[in-house]
Amino acid sequence: MKSVLITGGAVGIGKGLVIHFANKGYNVMFTYRSHKEEAMELAKKTNSRAFYCDITNMKNIRSLHEEVGRVDILINNAGVSDIKMCTEIDDLAWDYVVNTNLKGTFLLTKSFVPHMISNKFGRIINIGSMWGLNGSSCEVHYAASKAGLIGLTKSLAKELGPSNITVNLIAPGVIDTDMNKNADPATLKALIDECPISRMGTPDDIAACAIFLASEEASYITGAVIPVDGGYTA
Ligand code: NDP
Repeated sequence: MKSVLITGGAVGIGKGLVIHFANKGYNVMFTYRSHKEEAMELAKKTNSRAFYCDITNMKNIRSLHEEVGRVDILINNAGVSDIKMCTEIDDLAWDYVVNTNLKGTFLLTKSFVPHMISNKFGRIINIGSMWGLNGSSCEVHYAASKAGLIGLTKSLAKELGPSNITVNLIAPGVIDTDMNKNADPATLKALIDECPISRMGTPDDIAACAIFLASEEASYITGAVIPVDGGYTA
């Protein structure tokens, strides 16, 4: 049975990933940070294991690695967003977003890659964003962190391909999770109006793509950036 580690698995897209991978019979482990109660409940329901980890904290990453051991599939899903004019983004706001979305993803990946290399198998799936492809007004730090993940994905794909490790990125569009719960309704409507499929995406839409990328059938796909955005960036 293959093992999968999903960061930020207690809620939103991460929760969808946990449920789908558990339903497919994977040995699922996931991390939570603030949603402990939700994490425990989900772990019980899906027969998976939940671990505390703040991915901006190297000590947490080391403990997670010690507890979890080796994994076959790593899904870097944990991330934060922040809406601000570029002139309002101070060092703190920049570091909060970039250190979580980009540096945290790198540090966590670096911890789990050695086992994948020695095992000659691995799947790394990064959750980026369509804003990392297209850029986004009032989210310079978020879009830059997600664009950075594309460079990270493609570089790791080249470096790790010879070890039979694939590295891909899913770029979600507007997905119905807490990340968008405070979004201005008019802005959300405008985004949906611009989306060819004319609806928000769901965590299930993202999980379906991740399940495929983790499968044997996807063994020749690496360094790919796959928009799952209802055609928004088409
Ligand atoms: P949520 O806000 O619902 O979930 C974010 C997740 O990230 C939570 O599980 C949270 O953990 C975790 N997280 C945040 N910061 C940290 C940290 N420092 N350490 C560990 N975990 C952390 O958002 P979504 O489910 O929508 O987002 C999931 C991913 O999808 C993100 O990377 C996001 O950027 C991306 N995405 C989302 C889109 C959307 O429209 N929703 C669109 C494009 C991309 P906890 O809550 O336990 O603290």
